[in-house]
Amino acid sequence: MSKKSYIVGFPRIGEQRELKRSLEDFWANRCSFDAVKEVASKLKSRHWNYQKEASIDFISSNDFSFYDTMLDTAIMLGAIPKRFQGLKDETLYFSMARGNKENVAMEMTKWFNTNYHYIVPELSLEDQYKLNSSKVIDEYKEAKAQGINTKINLIGPITFLGLSKRVDRGDTYELHSKILPIYEELLKEISTLDDGITIQIDEPIFVKDNDAKVLSLIKPTYDRLDAVSDNINIIVSTYFEHSNEATKVLVNTPIWGLGLDFLYGTKNIESLELIANSGKKLIAGVVDGRNIWKNNIQTTLEILKNISKTVSKDNILISTSCSLLHTPFTLKYEEKMNADIKNWLSYAVEKLDEVSLITKIFFEGVESLCEKEKVVLADNQKANASRKTSTLIHDKNVQDRVDHFTKLSRDGIYEERIKLQKEILGYEDLATTTIGSFPQTPEVRKARQEFKNGVISKENYEQQMKAYIDDCVAFQEECGLEILVHGEPERNDMVEYFGEQLKGYGFSQNGWVQSYGSRCVKPPFIYGDISRPQPMTVEWITYAQKKTQKPMKGMLTGPVTILNWSFVRDDKPRDEVSKQIAVALSDEIDDLQNAGIKIIQVDEAAFKEGYPLREENIKIYEAWAVRDFKIAVSSAHKETQIHTHMCYSEFNDIIKTIEAMDADVISIETARSGNELLKIFKEVGYKQEVGPGVYDIHSPRVPSVDEIVKQIKLLLEVLPKEQLWINPDCGLKTRKWEEVKPSLINMVEAVKIVRNEL
Ligand code: GLN
Ligand code: ZN
Repeated sequence: MSKKSYIVGFPRIGEQRELKRSLEDFWANRCSFDAVKEVASKLKSRHWNYQKEASIDFISSNDFSFYDTMLDTAIMLGAIPKRFQGLKDETLYFSMARGNKENVAMEMTKWFNTNYHYIVPELSLEDQYKLNSSKVIDEYKEAKAQGINTKINLIGPITFLGLSKRVDRGDTYELHSKILPIYEELLKEISTLDDGITIQIDEPIFVKDNDAKVLSLIKPTYDRLDAVSDNINIIVSTYFEHSNEATKVLVNTPIWGLGLDFLYGTKNIESLELIANSGKKLIAGVVDGRNIWKNNIQTTLEILKNISKTVSKDNILISTSCSLLHTPFTLKYEEKMNADIKNWLSYAVEKLDEVSLITKIFFEGVESLCEKEKVVLADNQKANASRKTSTLIHDKNVQDRVDHFTKLSRDGIYEERIKLQKEILGYEDLATTTIGSFPQTPEVRKARQEFKNGVISKENYEQQMKAYIDDCVAFQEECGLEILVHGEPERNDMVEYFGEQLKGYGFSQNGWVQSYGSRCVKPPFIYGDISRPQPMTVEWITYAQKKTQKPMKGMLTGPVTILNWSFVRDDKPRDEVSKQIAVALSDEIDDLQNAGIKIIQVDEAAFKEGYPLREENIKIYEAWAVRDFKIAVSSAHKETQIHTHMCYSEFNDIIKTIEAMDADVISIETARSGNELLKIFKEVGYKQEVGPGVYDIHSPRVPSVDEIVKQIKLLLEVLPKEQLWINPDCGLKTRKWEEVKPSLINMVEAVKIVRNEL
């Protein structure tokens, strides 16, 4: 059989997060960069071998990165922002990613609608691009030395430009003619590496609604890239949605194949005829690369059968829907999970076997399976059947309550509510607060871990958490913050914490997924109907409130964020799952206010990332996302102030939706972009209060008083002081106390200075 099984890309952080640990050691000067490289080599080798052992035909190189592949691409092209020019090697690389003493880091933003974040390249018309790194070539050789001929993964030029920004805010696509020759040069070099090389060029930007100008770049780009050499086979790979407009063009270029996602881009089906006529290879993404459910092999074979009615079987390859970067590594370490539930799951390593098995059945028939494979297939069918009926999943009470839930919004209009709230809370203009979490110290992590593992008693654990809260509250009082938080020491993660307490939620021991750089998240997973057996946060928040006269802000994660940062069951529509969470949260809010908490923040950090990639689906998403935020806070009395918080959002397109959520106060991340993000709030006459972040919390840098004064003044150019709150960009959990303390002291000081001048 010719080569048929295909993996778009593999995760790189390591199944025990080896790369994360090594990077963080290096950043803390605990090891050399050579040591990091050694870890990286081991990981690459292990990941290649997993794929080889699973008989995967197309295994990638250059899917590895020390931080991010967009950053790698920027470096490769020589797109180095001015402020970092002159630095070299890893110092340059990590300064661009994380900033350094003198300079802020490059911006970071979400990779399409995933929770992966990439570094946004900064391009300038003055840049002189040149092929600037041998990483692509080196990694190919590294795999080759281990007996593995890889396909080479690259981020495509059109996606690279589409996701970059220009320092003068101009159109990045104007740089197309400067960038393309570098890609040609690279491909030329690649073509000499071996006899016949496959290059996967990722162009996920093709799944968005692109205008004609962008689409017009496709043909010249791929005509030219393919013309570089007869020795290369180019596959253009897209994922997360359909890419029908681009497909129409690509079939008329000399590329070898197209990678399409048939799970999240079901409409790709509409392009089958074109592809069939073009005779190109179709890399059919049919195994979910961004969820954790065991593939339903029966269903997948149906999809493939359907595809093969149009595209000849010879031209089909079997693939994951996208890179496995978005799934955890392996179920191997899940020792504590309920066996029924574990049996419904499949992580990256397990998905390799699925791709392999599906390939074998599809091309050679069930008869060709050996005994062992037949058992695997039978187990697969059994697991999928049990999900349909299991009482672990289906809860009639929850379904009934959620179906008939009638309190869809809070009492009172905003103007009426805010007046009451200001009377009760008595905060000044430019009120200072934080987003919730304070540094997660090694001691706090240890205590949580030891409690979880039964090493320390509940009393001991609670004592330690309370001691943290005491210190945290004391510091906030001391530095003069006005609306306090308890610091979230009891939370490993803002979603997992709730997942662990909600029924219908599962959590893993080792289901880590890279979020950005060395940072990983361990999303819980929703496998069944959701309910709240008991209050989740009330004890901690009321404890903290007792420690201060100032208002203590209760802290919850909103329904849409809980949903977007979880792996969600695929046997129920997302909006129904979201509504179940919202109803559970409305009970929590009621309990908090009844316990005397006057401000409650409902974080919707991931509201924006749940947005559909295609315009045509947006209205539907917005309708249920707003509905469910409003259901969650519907129990709040007029007097209870509801805050929400959103990370890194471009607000221009969604401002009306944000307003419709009807939170009294929203805090947002803005520090890396001055007052730009804020302008839209003014433009549309947004009436609720806004806390635009005044300093970047992703960097260890301590902002000076001056800098924050300047930032506040920038904000005041846009919105009046009565409408503004002052806070950092986001939670402080990833920072150290020695960074957080001076930063917040400076922030409060800056507010004093500005207030005095007003
Ligand atoms: N309350 C959360 C925290 O401070 C919010 C985090 C977030 O927005 N990502 O950690
Ligand atoms: Zn945030």
